[in-house]
Amino acid sequence: MTTVDLGENNLAVAVAWRGRKVIGTLFVRGRAHEGRRLRRLSAIRWRQMASGKPARGVRSNRRRWARLAQAEEDAARQIARRIVRFAKTHGSRVIVLEALNRMPQAQRMGWTRRQNLRRSWWMRGRILSFTRAMALWEGILVVRRDPAFTSKACPHCGAYGERFSRRTGGRGPRHTFRCPACGWEGNADLVGAINLKKKWDRTFPPLGPLMAVAKATKNDTKTAPARVEDKGAVEGAANAG
Ligand SMILES: [Zn+2]
Repeated sequence: MTTVDLGENNLAVAVAWRGRKVIGTLFVRGRAHEGRRLRRLSAIRWRQMASGKPARGVRSNRRRWARLAQAEEDAARQIARRIVRFAKTHGSRVIVLEALNRMPQAQRMGWTRRQNLRRSWWMRGRILSFTRAMALWEGILVVRRDPAFTSKACPHCGAYGERFSRRTGGRGPRHTFRCPACGWEGNADLVGAINLKKKWDRTFPPLGPLMAVAKATKNDTKTAPARVEDKGAVEGAANAG
């Protein structure tokens, strides 16, 4: 199976599993795309200010908005394709994707940044639906999970951990996850995908024990007639006695 986290530093992080073993990882970095989007947004903003009218009403900007939307759509489709190809290559029959949280409050944010945030959120939704459609085509099931605390809980002990930047200490992309309770430290971008797997295992325990139960049940039905006979024999004995 493959778990996918539409995360903080990356547009998507996928981990392929065989049982409890990680057999592959995929990082889809979004920085280049975000840069392009920000450039497009500031071009729109600039024209909007120059014309003194709301951006959507301006004809030349309308074309820019359309081009920006198309670029988002294309990128989302491309990312979904990479996720599904990754899952297929690793023999996954199921993709578990985190569902989307509510968008963070965009208060006290400039116009461009607010637009950028809105669009990146919208794009995650598009990645989700493209992935679902493409996976279906490949015969892979896509399951959506609640992401509550997925990227904040320690994969080792489940305590509330923190992300930080090893290089700068505070600023910049926070790529390292640290657990204050047990001291686990690791790649923060992988935490979401690992925890998704753990959540999945809790709802769907490993197949091993399940197969054992199935086998035991099967044996029960096989031995059932014998038991009925035994019961009959006991009853018969009781009657006789
Ligand atoms: Zn821990």
